[in-house]
Amino acid sequence: MVELVKLTLVVPCYNEQDMLPISIPKFIGILDELKKSQVIKDNSKVLFIDDGSNDETWNIITQFHQLNSSVVGLKLTRNFGHQNALLAGLMNVDSDITVSIDADLQDDPSIIKKMIHAYYEGSEIVFGIRNDRTSDSFSKKFFAQSYYKILNKMGVNIIEDHADFRLMSKKALTTLADFKEVNLFLRGIIPIIGYKTSRVYYARLAREAGETKYNLKKMLELALNGVTSFSIVPLIFIVWIGLFISILSGIMGLWALIIKFFIGGTVHGWASIVVPMYFLGGIQLLTLGIIGIYISKVYLEVKARPRFIIEDEIK
Ligand code: UDP
Ligand code: MG
Repeated sequence: MVELVKLTLVVPCYNEQDMLPISIPKFIGILDELKKSQVIKDNSKVLFIDDGSNDETWNIITQFHQLNSSVVGLKLTRNFGHQNALLAGLMNVDSDITVSIDADLQDDPSIIKKMIHAYYEGSEIVFGIRNDRTSDSFSKKFFAQSYYKILNKMGVNIIEDHADFRLMSKKALTTLADFKEVNLFLRGIIPIIGYKTSRVYYARLAREAGETKYNLKKMLELALNGVTSFSIVPLIFIVWIGLFISILSGIMGLWALIIKFFIGGTVHGWASIVVPMYFLGGIQLLTLGIIGIYISKVYLEVKARPRFIIEDEIK
């Protein structure tokens, strides 16, 4: 048998006071079971990252720590968003392997054991993939599925139906630490790290308590980040639109000359001026907007501000 490894479960939490009293005991139970069945070391932990919650989240984590020392916590100074909170956690563990998982138990924690087995068989990264979305609302399902399709068309290499439920070894985490981007979309970065990877499947459950912390705004931000951080297809698309419209207006001009000289008796020039004007105005705004998004990314990356700031820590 191989030497046992130390595991840390990494759990980002934002206003999860309703969920934590249910999920913390569950996570502890899973750790205990894995320890008992000699899969992981006894000093394995579960790390909760308080992503600037304004409810009792941090107090609950502290209380559970007093009862059970395998519960540890990290408190960020403000809300940095799920991706950054997760990164803060991953960059602050000293274990052989980590499994990142949401606080709401939607990702089935009972498959962690399978993930660890895949690690023992040589995988440095193990992706948790949901094969059943019946618990998601229709709009979420539709949004997610079309999003994966569009991303793949744009050449972004992400794994369909994999959120951020995954096992990463120390080696994979050290590599992840070299990716310095501020516009963080872990799902896009991790598949390009390399190493031997594998997949474990599970059914996504419904949230047991509290509400989704991903409102439409956060979801759209994440989606847009996924596209503009990994793909320049929208910029190339603009070039094609520009080319197409230029050729079209050339033809239109020719057509106008033909009518004037050979057919005659035409127009007072309203439609031919006003319609293209609005049309081109629209296209220009659109393209400027897309270019602006990319420039704003460069701006953020150049500033290289910290991606998370830690206020407090319980070990
Ligand atoms: N979360 C976070 N910061 C945020 C938003 C969410 O740390 O700004 C955490 C949240 O507490 C949960 C996980 O990220 O543990 C996933 O969020 P949620 O379950 O609300 O998203 P959904 O499952 O609806 O996509
Ligand atoms: Mg959830």
